[in-house]
Amino acid sequence: MLILTDIYILTLGLVLGSFYNVVGLRVAGGRSIISPPSHCPSCGRRLAIRDLVPVFSYLFLRGRCRTCHQKISPIYPIVEASTGLLFLFSFLRAASVADMLCGWLLASLLMIVLVTDLTEMMIPDRILFFFLILFAVFRIFFPLVPWWDALAGAASGFIVLLLIALISRGGMGGGDVKLFAVIGLLVGLKTVLLGFFLSTFIGAAIGVAGMLTGMIKRRQPIPFVPFIVLGMLAAYFFGDRLIAIYYSFLF
Ligand SMILES: [Zn+2]
Repeated sequence: MLILTDIYILTLGLVLGSFYNVVGLRVAGGRSIISPPSHCPSCGRRLAIRDLVPVFSYLFLRGRCRTCHQKISPIYPIVEASTGLLFLFSFLRAASVADMLCGWLLASLLMIVLVTDLTEMMIPDRILFFFLILFAVFRIFFPLVPWWDALAGAASGFIVLLLIALISRGGMGGGDVKLFAVIGLLVGLKTVLLGFFLSTFIGAAIGVAGMLTGMIKRRQPIPFVPFIVLGMLAAYFFGDRLIAIYYSFLF
């Protein structure tokens, strides 16, 4: 029975991941989420059910459109597989239903803004506002962290990052600042600050490595959301363990 539940939740995540691709692409492009039906961006061919199976269609078609053979972006299967695995992981480690839903909500927001940032280099306000309301309602029904912690998380995420955005003069975008504030409302002060620290650390490490190897040019804008996704997930799922390891080095 347990295996069956695992498969069910993995499938739910894969299907939602596929939907998050559509939401991210269409909201960032200023289009409707519902119509027109999914189609190939190069030849306009309408996609059938067999082309829309998460991950498997991409693998089966070897990453190309069935009609015009144009390459399909690997972002789609990556977002589908990541959402599926994050949903399953959240379920397996959760202490309660609220805990599991919290992980699902965080994964959902992160996956959608990953799509918008990678395709259009932006985090749409409409998506942040939607999740702000959703997280606030969730917090009222499931107060996993005290209400003042959630508010402090949102405020600190906003203030600290606004200062950094002002000091670095656009090194970090306004969208990133608002994203951390919205996440802070869901996960609370400690996790959002640790997530911020880890995101900038991973971003800086990859940035320096990229410049040393010549893969990234100086002043070339790189999307920051992938680092936020990695940093926030590490902070959310492994935060306590990471802090314990950090202290064991200090004392
Ligand atoms: Zn095509």
